[in-house]
Amino acid sequence: MMGTKLKQRLIKVYNRHLKRKMDYVYDSSRPKRQIAYVFDINRCIGCQTCTMACKSTWTFGKGQEYMWWNNVESKPFGSYPQHWDVKLLKKLGPQNWSEGKYLGKTIFEAAPDHEAYRGFRPKKKEWRFPNMYEDTATGHSMSGVEASEKHKVWFHYLQRICNHCTYPACMAACPRKAVYKRGEDGVVLIDQKRCRGYRECVGACPYKKAMYRGETRTSEKCIACYPRVEKGEMPRCVVACVGKIRLQGYLTTDERKAKEDNPIDYLVHKEKIALPLYPQFGTEPNVYYIPPRWVPLEYLTQMFGPGVEEAIEKRTNPSDELFAALRCFGMQREIVSRFKLQNNRVYGYTDNGEKVVDVDLKEEPIYVRPALDKKQNTLRINEP
Ligand code: SF4
Ligand code: SF4
Repeated sequence: MMGTKLKQRLIKVYNRHLKRKMDYVYDSSRPKRQIAYVFDINRCIGCQTCTMACKSTWTFGKGQEYMWWNNVESKPFGSYPQHWDVKLLKKLGPQNWSEGKYLGKTIFEAAPDHEAYRGFRPKKKEWRFPNMYEDTATGHSMSGVEASEKHKVWFHYLQRICNHCTYPACMAACPRKAVYKRGEDGVVLIDQKRCRGYRECVGACPYKKAMYRGETRTSEKCIACYPRVEKGEMPRCVVACVGKIRLQGYLTTDERKAKEDNPIDYLVHKEKIALPLYPQFGTEPNVYYIPPRWVPLEYLTQMFGPGVEEAIEKRTNPSDELFAALRCFGMQREIVSRFKLQNNRVYGYTDNGEKVVDVDLKEEPIYVRPALDKKQNTLRINEP
């Protein structure tokens, strides 16, 4: 089926990240509130706890061995499937921005004649293993590297899941209309009964987050842990995160109606500190990243679009309010829909008004264990 799709009637839709209209297969149907995530790259320690939390929940079955719905790769060299982003960036042509507006083509606009998107289906061998060339810096230093300022040798972790895009490429490409976006929260799912395994979604998804399962002959993807989310709990990868880098919540899709006390709205719409991954692809992804401080700006701008410099400046010198929003990461399992800062304490509340975050703004409590654990009859060493 790949490449045989007839040119469809395209509709002009507004892409918020590109600040312009673009061609898409379906009419714009933004949900009232959109599931969204903010990942603070600066805090990630690359431990892969998120990866294993997802794997052990959703993809431990037969035929899913190679499926990593969540993966953490080390940029610039790491990628799963191999070279997923570099390959597409090369195909896309010039990707210039001017005053926040994207002047290049999206994957829909750059589609060859009679096809719905510009993309590719990774080869089988490119799915062989994640973490190839991982933790490889861009050079070597024989004299040690000062971490206090930008340096030539760098890498950063990139945490990746399905972006539950506003304009999903997987949905646009599916000839069976098996891929759909839920009206209530914008979660993108593949109807396993409708899917016939044509793998158009695999070729179309610019992030390569739709995957084929030979065992069932259907495609599968991250389901945003919807059984948890429907109960008001954040997904497994978010709650399990050791570095407390992740926050999931709901983004108000109409920016003008954004609520400043909603931490996701605050970080994305108000402070604009959290930016989309490769917005030039055109799918309006809903995972937002706080860019790493030590990486060259040119590279980061290619990856997260304009606004990187301002985001880094704010992350480096946060206001108390911004710091309060960042304190909501990794504190609880429930979805926080409202936060407030009062007398140097940060509070977070669920949709029902239940208080689930109550922490000091700056002071982390420190516990020093007694060296002798009488219960276990063990002598422990406390590192200074
Ligand atoms: S990231 Fe890929 S699989 Fe997920 S919604 Fe977007 S296009 Fe579809
Ligand atoms: S669990 Fe958190 S800190 Fe560890 S790799 Fe995943 S995102 Fe990074």
